[in-house]
Amino acid sequence: MNALNGKKALVTGGSRGIGAAIAVRLAQEGADVAVTYVQGEEGAREVVAKIEAMGRRGVALRADLALAEDAVASVERAEQALGGLDVLVNNAGVGVLGPLGDITLGDVDRVLAVNVRGVFLASRTAAARMPHGGRIVTIGSCMAQRVPGPGGTLYAMSKAALIGLTKALARELGGRGINATLVHPGPIDTDMNPADGPTAPAQSALTSLGRYGVAQEVASMVAYLAGAEASYVTGAELTVDGGYAA
Ligand code: NDP
Repeated sequence: MNALNGKKALVTGGSRGIGAAIAVRLAQEGADVAVTYVQGEEGAREVVAKIEAMGRRGVALRADLALAEDAVASVERAEQALGGLDVLVNNAGVGVLGPLGDITLGDVDRVLAVNVRGVFLASRTAAARMPHGGRIVTIGSCMAQRVPGPGGTLYAMSKAALIGLTKALARELGGRGINATLVHPGPIDTDMNPADGPTAPAQSALTSLGRYGVAQEVASMVAYLAGAEASYVTGAELTVDGGYAA
């Protein structure tokens, strides 16, 4: 039994890392899946090829979520290409870490545009199109819950904003049977946060399990939240962090 048979999903930032794993997992569960990319056209095409190899429909769309018009258009184009939209996964995000004094105004604008404004616009555009049973799953961060040291002001601020957005979306959309949830990954081995990077040992030590997670460990939570088993889960933060916040 495939939990997402017949469902149509959009995963932003699906060309690599956590988003690519989510897109493949949703297709494994039966969904047709559109992914967005910015630089990673080749990666996005590889993800689409994997989706199509499972007999599902796959679509790759270029969309820079730092641009308001792209955030809206990516949802509209995904809905048109797939013939509907049941699941939006707001995964695309950028991480800018560093001392408070080194963060530029441009950094602030770019991080908030991608991590917050883009999520707001994509969610609003998707919500207007989703049927009863629709799902909006957003990828936050363990740093929205626990900031274990200096250097996280901008990133943690951007991810913490998604808590308010998710709770408010759940309240706004609950009457239409649309669920909104937020997943907080801990350190996950991707290009953004490689498990062999300079801060990796310190990050691993902050988890209860003493290790990085892999993208598939986040994707399985998203597949659950997108499916019928999570029908009574909304407005909630789900933590997939190896015990980072424990
Ligand atoms: P990666 O940097 O590995 O991948 C980022 C993805 O987002 C890529 O598909 C990239 O597209 C896309 N992207 C980047 N900038 C933009 C933009 N301006 N508009 C649209 N898409 C964009 O990141 P991860 O897979 O590690 O992270 C995915 C999500 O998980 C992010 O929201 C991140 O904040 C969050 N997260 C990650 C953690 C980790 O340890 N890895 C921990 C906690 C949260 P392209 O390839 O085309 O450039």
